[in-house]
Formats: sequence, structure tokens, C-alpha cells
Amino acid sequence: MSAAARGADSIGRDTMNVVIVGHVDHGKSTLVGRLLADTGTLGDGKLEKVQETCRRQGKQFEYAFLLDALEEEQGQGITIDAARVFFRTALRDYIIIDAPGHIEFLKNMVTGAARAEAAVLLIDANEGVQENSRRHGYLLSMLGIRQVVVAVNKIDLVDWDRGVFERIVSEYRAFLADVGISPRQYIPISAREGAQVAERSARLAWYEGPTVLEALDGLSKQAPSRDLPLRMPVQDVYKFNEHGDDRRIIAGRIEAGRLSVGERVLFLPSGKAATVRTIEAFSAPERPDAHAGESIGVTLDEQIYVTRGEIVSRPDATPSVSTKMRVNLFWLGREPMSPGKRYRLKLGTAATEVTIDQIHRVLDASNLDATETKQEVGRHDVADLVLRARQPIAFDAAADIEQTGRFVIVDGFDIAGGGIVRELVADDLNQRRLESRLRDRDWVRGDIAPDRRAELAGHPASMVMLTGASGTGKMAVARALERRLVESRHGAYLLNGKNLVLGVDADIEFDDVDELVRRFGEVAHLLLDAGLIVVSTTDFIGVRDHKAITTQVAPFPTFVVHLGPEAEGLPEATDLRADPRPDIESMVGVILRELASRRRLRVDFRG
Ligand code: GDP
Repeated sequence: MSAAARGADSIGRDTMNVVIVGHVDHGKSTLVGRLLADTGTLGDGKLEKVQETCRRQGKQFEYAFLLDALEEEQGQGITIDAARVFFRTALRDYIIIDAPGHIEFLKNMVTGAARAEAAVLLIDANEGVQENSRRHGYLLSMLGIRQVVVAVNKIDLVDWDRGVFERIVSEYRAFLADVGISPRQYIPISAREGAQVAERSARLAWYEGPTVLEALDGLSKQAPSRDLPLRMPVQDVYKFNEHGDDRRIIAGRIEAGRLSVGERVLFLPSGKAATVRTIEAFSAPERPDAHAGESIGVTLDEQIYVTRGEIVSRPDATPSVSTKMRVNLFWLGREPMSPGKRYRLKLGTAATEVTIDQIHRVLDASNLDATETKQEVGRHDVADLVLRARQPIAFDAAADIEQTGRFVIVDGFDIAGGGIVRELVADDLNQRRLESRLRDRDWVRGDIAPDRRAELAGHPASMVMLTGASGTGKMAVARALERRLVESRHGAYLLNGKNLVLGVDADIEFDDVDELVRRFGEVAHLLLDAGLIVVSTTDFIGVRDHKAITTQVAPFPTFVVHLGPEAEGLPEATDLRADPRPDIESMVGVILRELASRRRLRVDFRG
């Protein structure tokens, strides 16, 4: 059957990706050949043809040759991914992701080029558990493949002996349990003789379990991605260019779950929320809903400012947000991955700079030597690490939602590594995020919605934070900014940290910085909720705290202006840097133009 024919009559059937791993010569190709032959997947007469060719050439027939024959056929212009072999059972279609060299396989797995849902681990009954068998077990575990069938092959070579089989099983079971894998089945087989692959064998009468095919059919399909919680990484935000039309289309591909018009959605890491007004697909009519696998554009009821890299979810089933995450990573780079060095991490559509925060374990993939002490990750090493990102990102543990739980690491222009997220590691803003989200959930609202308030005022609420060393004149800039805003009929208010210390903070110690920052953020949040443009400046709160405040007042947008010479470097969250200069009005002019270009003002100061 050709690939095209197979595709055509496979519509509506389940497909499962399977990887077959094992030490060289333990019988992988033979097993695959057998599966193809015994499931009738090969074209009519193909098996006989290959057998005939062997006879003519005087060489012994091998089931592995069937793969070569198939490859030749695929070379004849039939479009099919050459790395994949298909076979089918009454239940479903299988795609075998051929894994000739494990490095290649790992590379494909970590970069997402290939994805296996289940694995068959082969062990040669004659040779027993090899170092490589262990390594494969560990790698499957690291890659998050939990559905594993172990086939003890070449049982014919040990006289179909039950004792040999049981010894291998007990040895390997103990090891796999160590790495967190409990195989569904251990099956004695002879791939060459076709015993216990598709059919039972009288020689293995002592074995009562399933055949390889039965075991595969017994594995469960992963929940279809559309039944998972909604995840849509934002690819791009397009503005309508029509005059006076300030709508935006948020474009992306739904990686998991579904989305409907009228639904409330949350953007993370920004924490902004809105309601879906329309769902559109490229040159297609509007539609009421969409699901995983579809690329769509979404318009919202409010014009919130979101960017590429955020993940759209439902407020009650969100991804994690942090600057830290614990990962399993496979390194391909020529240069070792080392602490202190900066890399680019890509997860979904997000890209951010990361460094190694902590190394838990590094494992050499070629000999499975684990070291707790190794302080860098060499080429082809597998590592258990904590990564720290420059900016918070949204992600899931791969075990929960694989689509938003894998990443690649780019060094220069090359993919230098990749892996899966094991779990969130709380950073120092996690508590703040959680508190704000809980506060927002139960917040009592008046009858005026924020967008209605903004519409009447002619501008949205937002926060402008001025930072810089004392003496840079930020207070003078803040005063002038507030005055210009109010005089051009904006609701604006100057919030100076000192005023909080005099009143709201009168009961706490001056060195309780966390609480000072928290209260500052909460007061700012109230003013923002009242629809104001909050212009803040304070010497009481450090530069790093602006990130905390941004987190706390989200989804209200902030704009951080740093006054200081370029040479000093910028605080992380800076949106605009300005040289401190005597001409206050021109500095205010620059800030106003920037705010206007972000559509945060009622007057266009750009003219
Ligand atoms: P791979 O390197 O894992 O793909 O292994 P192959 O499938 O090429 O098999 C290696 C050798 O083992 C070949 O000569 C096969 O004929 C032989 N072999 C594979 N399965 C069996 C089996 O069940 N019994 C015996 N006796 N030989 C087998």
C-alpha cells in the first residue's frame, strides 16, 4: 500500500507515534520488518519479491531488508517522510519513528521534529541488559515517554527459556523503576521467527501475556490536544490600518484546547485579560469557535496591550509564570553550556535570554556516567537544570501540556539544545503574582467597566514610573509630566513614595522594604482602577522593585522611564531611557510622545 493510499483510508483513525530503541544488533530493524510483514502493510508480493532477490543473490533473507525495499519505493517519488515507517492494526495506525542512532533521535525529540508517544525497548535475550539498555531507559524517562513496552528479543537463541527471560526482566525492572519508568509489559519475542510479535508461538507456551501488537494496541492515546486547557501562544498583533480604527487582531496557533467567542481569556505573563469578540481565520468567514491545531486571529472587546510570546489561556486553567524553571535538557552545542553564559530560550512563540541557575545532574549520554559535580553541560550530555530567564515567561510542565512544555536553546544562530520543562521554580515575584490574581478575582467592581471609563476619559489608565539615582531630577520631570497631562484634560495623579510613608506606611518600619513596595503597588492599583494615569517617583523604592510593581498592577500597563547615563546600564524593566538634562520640558515631550504612540493618551503629542 502506498503512503498516499494509506493516508486516504486512514481518515478518522487514531495514529500513534512509536519509537523502537535498543542496542545495536538487538533486532530493531528485524522487528520493524516483521511488524510490516505481519500486519500486511507491505504491498502485495513485496515480501516474496525480497525473499526471491535474496535467493538469487545467495544471501540469507533478513526481515530488515524489507525496510530497505520500502525505502527504495519511497525513493520513487512517493512523498513520505523517509524517517517514518507506517503500519496498521485493526485498532489504529502506527508511525514508527526510526531511531537508527540515538543522538539523531534525541535531537529530533528535543527539537520537536519528532514526537514519540510510546516506546518499544528491545533487549537481546542472549546478551542481556547492556549499558545501552540502561541508557535508553533513562533517556525515555528524561524525554517524558511513559508508555513503554520491553521486548526481550532472540528468545530462540536461548532455547525459548523462561529462566533467562525472567532474569532479564527482574534486572531491568529494578533499573527502570529507579528512573521512574514502569513498563506496561515485558514480552519474550523472536522477531526473526515471528514469535509473539503478531502471533503467539507454541515455543512460548509458558508466557501468558500479549503479543507486541496487542501490547501496543493496549496503550492509551494521549488525550487529544483539543481536550486540554486552552493554550494559544501569541504570534503577532496586527493593527487595522483604517483611519480611526484602533482594533487589533491577535494572531496565533491554538496549541491546546478550544476557544469560543464571548469567552474571557487571560494573557500571561502580562496578566492582561479581555473577552473574545471575534475569531477569524485567514480569508475565511468569522466563526464562533476554534480548536487545537488551527491558526486564527482574535479580536477582543478591549484594546489591551499584549505582545508576541504571551500565552492565551482561560483564567481558571493558566500556565505557570516565572523567571525560573526546572528542566531536562539535551545539549548539542560544540561549546559546552556553562553557567554565566547567556543563551536564548524559545518556548512557544516566546524568546528570552536565559542562564543556568543551578545544575542538579549532568549525564553523559554516551556512557550514562552521572555526575553531581560537573559544572557544565557538554556536547551530548543530558542535564537536569534550573534555568533563569531575564523576563518572566509562561509555560507548562511537559507532563501536563507538552505543547507549551518544550523549548529549544539557541546559541548564536544554531539550536544548541532543547528539552522539556519538569516544573516551575518559584522566583521572588511568584507570591506577588498570586496575591494580585486572587485580589483581582474577588475585586468588587462598580457599574462602569474599565473600557467604558477609558472611553469617557479619552484615555486608558496607565502608570508611568520614573527611576534614576537621586539628583537626576526625576521629581521635577514627574511634576511637569503630571501638570502637562492634567492641563490637557487627562486624569493624572502624581504618586510620590514619601506621601505613602507619611500616611499609609506610618505603622511599619522603614526597612520593611517588601511591605513598602507592596503597599505602594496596591495604592497605585487603586488609582489605576479609578482610571487615572499614575505618575510615580520615589527614592524609597529600589529600581528592582519596579518589576514587582509592574507585576502587581497588571493588567494595567506600566511605562518605566529611567533617567541616567547609558553607561550605567539599564534596570531590567526600562521602556525608555533619557539622559538627565536641564531642559525638563523637552524630556516631558519625549515621554508624552512615547505614551501617545502606545495609545495611552487622549491627545496626540506626536505632531
Ligand atoms: P538492529 O541493529 O537493532 O536493527 O538489529 P537487526 O534487526 O539488524 O538484527 C541484528 C541481527 O540479529 C540480524 O542478523 C538479525 O537477523 C538477528 N536477529 C534479529 N532478531 C532475531 C531473533 O529474534 N532471533 C535471532 N536468532 N536473530 C535475530
